[in-house]
Amino acid sequence: MAVERTLSIIKPDATNRNLTGKINAKFEDAGLRIVAQKRIQLTKAQAGEFYAVHKERPFYDELCEFMASAPVVVQVLEGEGAIAKNRDVMGATNPADAAAGTIRAEFAESVGENSVHGSDAPETAAVEIAYFFSGLELVG
Ligand code: ADP
Ligand code: MG
Repeated sequence: MAVERTLSIIKPDATNRNLTGKINAKFEDAGLRIVAQKRIQLTKAQAGEFYAVHKERPFYDELCEFMASAPVVVQVLEGEGAIAKNRDVMGATNPADAAAGTIRAEFAESVGENSVHGSDAPETAAVEIAYFFSGLELVG
């Protein structure tokens, strides 16, 4: 399997509860390497642009408000099959459905405030990484 990069976000519910290190340990324990990382405060407009694919969904406004409510940690994870591997480590969107040991099973508060974002395909990973990081910030 090819080495891939994927975009991860530690969401406001998790940064509020000081869970960055515990979540990063889950990635590293799974063999994912954090090759870029920064803590930023999104505006609601920036969150809206990032999640534009969801703009017709009923939860879109609530999602954008939430993502702008406190700092987030945006990061690039690298590894063999990193996109699917990260989705496995994250667990299902709704923590009630997330497998034991996953980030969302352990830390998420609700289907909306679910601690992490992860890209879902190579095309979205490339676009999402470029939204937050320049090539110069990706040092491998
Ligand atoms: P995932 O983050 O697992 O890829 P989606 O892409 O379907 O999930 O949704 C993006 C984000 O929108 C979710 O992580 C969650 O924060 C929010 N969300 C999804 N479904 C709901 C819902 N039914 N109610 C509120 N928020 C939701
Ligand atoms: Mg998604």
